[in-house]
Amino acid sequence: MKRSALLLIAGVLVFSVSSSGGLSRQVVAYDLKARLQTDTKTVEGQEVLTWLNESEDPVSELQFHLYMNAFKNNRTTFMKESGRTHRGFKADEENWGRIEVRKISIRDGDDLTGTMAFIRPDDQNPDDQTVMKVTLPLPVNPREKITLVIDFATKLPKVFARSGFVGDFFMVGQWFPKIGVLKDGVWNCHQYHAQSEFFADYGAFRVELTVPARYVVGATGKRISETQNADGSKTYVHVQEDVHDFAWTACPEFVEFREKFSLKNPPVETEMIFLIHRRHLGQKDRYVRALRQGLEFYSTSYGPYPYETITLVDPAPGAAAAGGMEYPTLFTADTTSFMPRGVRMPEMVTIHEFGHGYWYGIVGSNEFEEAWLDEGINSYSEAKAMDKYYGPDGSMIDFLGLRIGEIPFQRMSVIASGRFDPIDKFSWAYVSGGSYSLNVYQKASLMLLTLERLLGEDVMSRIMKTYYEEWKFRHPTTKDFIRVAEKVSGKDLAWFFDQVLYSPDRLDYGISDLASFEVLDPLGMFDGLPAKETPAVKGAKFPAAPKQFRSEVVAARFGEWIFPQEILVVFSDGSRVRETWDGRDRWKRFVYVKPVKAVSAEVDPDRKLVLDANITNNSRVIERARRPVLKYTLGFVGWFQALLSLVSL
Ligand SMILES: [Zn+2]
Repeated sequence: MKRSALLLIAGVLVFSVSSSGGLSRQVVAYDLKARLQTDTKTVEGQEVLTWLNESEDPVSELQFHLYMNAFKNNRTTFMKESGRTHRGFKADEENWGRIEVRKISIRDGDDLTGTMAFIRPDDQNPDDQTVMKVTLPLPVNPREKITLVIDFATKLPKVFARSGFVGDFFMVGQWFPKIGVLKDGVWNCHQYHAQSEFFADYGAFRVELTVPARYVVGATGKRISETQNADGSKTYVHVQEDVHDFAWTACPEFVEFREKFSLKNPPVETEMIFLIHRRHLGQKDRYVRALRQGLEFYSTSYGPYPYETITLVDPAPGAAAAGGMEYPTLFTADTTSFMPRGVRMPEMVTIHEFGHGYWYGIVGSNEFEEAWLDEGINSYSEAKAMDKYYGPDGSMIDFLGLRIGEIPFQRMSVIASGRFDPIDKFSWAYVSGGSYSLNVYQKASLMLLTLERLLGEDVMSRIMKTYYEEWKFRHPTTKDFIRVAEKVSGKDLAWFFDQVLYSPDRLDYGISDLASFEVLDPLGMFDGLPAKETPAVKGAKFPAAPKQFRSEVVAARFGEWIFPQEILVVFSDGSRVRETWDGRDRWKRFVYVKPVKAVSAEVDPDRKLVLDANITNNSRVIERARRPVLKYTLGFVGWFQALLSLVSL
């Protein structure tokens, strides 16, 4: 044991708490070498990883994600949960993926290969090998670093669930052994699930990528060198600090374009790199414009884009399963050779995936455990950006007379959702993939849009900016978001978040009854006298001039969530009465006696509650007023649903 101790000490460097000048705490430093074997679809890799123990306790076990093992066979947790289908794409049974760790050792020290063991912290599935642990001969003490050297080989699957190859196109994501996140002294290192993305610590990457010279390469970060090798290959070196992952792509059919993006307020200078498959060049201008819009919108709404590059990858024909995916400073776009201009899928996907550079990339929430923090906040941001640049009425589709905004589009999915799951839940614990995506994307986005309408756009804008500023390059949780929202708004928002985030019920208010009838002459007996003989009535003129009408409006709570309501009643002369109701009881009746009839009534007349699950019941109309209450129309629901199945991003 003495020998081990000495060698371990050689591999452990005392860490000085002041970081290297980057924007994040540099918990990890990866120095990776990767060689793409295009014939065997394999990446041969060597990884030198330096990891800092930021906890208060000595750590003698390290845990790693081996994500590519999710595609190793049909019994992995990913394959069981997904039924071998991801976003409508089937896994190829001839081309499985896997990652093999050939050797892991402490630099200049002990070989740890013999201590490697697969663990299954989430489901105990013995066939899942997506998490590996190694045991150290001596612990890494608090504020100390350890450096490991890992030899590995990654066999890429036929493109599936974001990664892999099709022909000579390669999208290489989740390809190297990635250390988990040590949180409060406990490893957070989940298995790769069908409904979940990723979580890792910030640090610096330096990656050497060697590919056959004819391949065009794109990767996370900035390229610092490009070398032609004697064997006909080329080596590209990319570096990037303050990121938590590294992905790359290679294809000889890419055409590369570079354009500068700069903004004065806030100051942004970055280089946009487009790798567009030769057969999709017709889409280039749309990508360029949408990426410019994304950079401008997110920089002005949340904070200046902080990196020197942003790379958009347009996957090859047949590689759509690699499309619509985010990595730090690089994302994959939609992929198509033709899309009508009025169907704004390429724009939406570009803005969405770029946006993940903020909500996932810079603000590093845990995508396994609270996916709404990246997908929901990003869908909210994307909807606002699309409405800003393309107009709210046709931001999603403006084609052949059909105009659909992104927010109504998000609403359609919530209308269709069952009451199985809340928004905040572990990603793999949802009843289905559909329930996961409806909740963490659309319902979470509508939650934020509702909050914005309740608090005001200015307050919401400050909430988002503050959340971004306080949590950039860190790992916030839902409680951190709520804390910021309450601090900035000065309001107790527990009533709101407790319902919307944690309960699977729904918000649904409406008008259950609207009636208006004439106040009739007194008839029958009153105090022993016929009505007409009573002192109060005798001599009075009936019908009263002007004629009186009794109108009754019943507002009702059809859902379980309790939200304060506003109700607008419109009378036949165009006059209006606004009522408020705390929304607690199941219904509330409002009665008016006036010379005019109530002709329409509507809850939420300002359309603040975009979370309302059914807006067809929001208003009732007896007859047209001079200024009629607009009735919502909900055509195309089935059509929307079909389209929606294409856009779970
Ligand atoms: Zn997304």
